[in-house]
Amino acid sequence: MADLVIPKTILDDIIAHANELTPHECCGLLAGTNGVVSHLYRIKNIVAVEGAQNLSSFDSAKAAHLERLSPDERAEIAFVMDMQDFSAAKKDMRNRGLDLQVVYHSHPHDPARPSVTDIKIASDYEEIWPKINLPIPAYLLVSLMNPTPDVRCYWIKSEHVVSADFVIR
Ligand SMILES: [Zn+2]
Repeated sequence: MADLVIPKTILDDIIAHANELTPHECCGLLAGTNGVVSHLYRIKNIVAVEGAQNLSSFDSAKAAHLERLSPDERAEIAFVMDMQDFSAAKKDMRNRGLDLQVVYHSHPHDPARPSVTDIKIASDYEEIWPKINLPIPAYLLVSLMNPTPDVRCYWIKSEHVVSADFVIR
């Protein structure tokens, strides 16, 4: 895979989004052409907004577990993108001739590494991306656990996680 190029302004925007949503996780999409990111789409995190009853990507045991948690606690566990926001972003990408390149989200209190849940969801989505005519994206994580935000990027395939190189420019 070629290196991703992420403009500094977009990276700053991701960090600003994370700071605005903390202690909830933020999430969104990055799109561009030929590995160069040019657009950021903020997507509502329904785990933070609506709670666990709307989570379709969790099995019932997990959802039942999530229902007992407060909204803040739930937000720390996972993010699920709002499908209306997602569809609007997808449509805009198509209109502009852009490719989806990255799914980003924040970890307010944890390192910039995919959680067990993140890996499970990403692996479930591997089959979904081609069905909705989108390439399998890289996953960018921003951690706010230290005063300086930590940003890292990964490929997640078949529950395997590998670092993805990216250049900030
Ligand atoms: Zn996560």
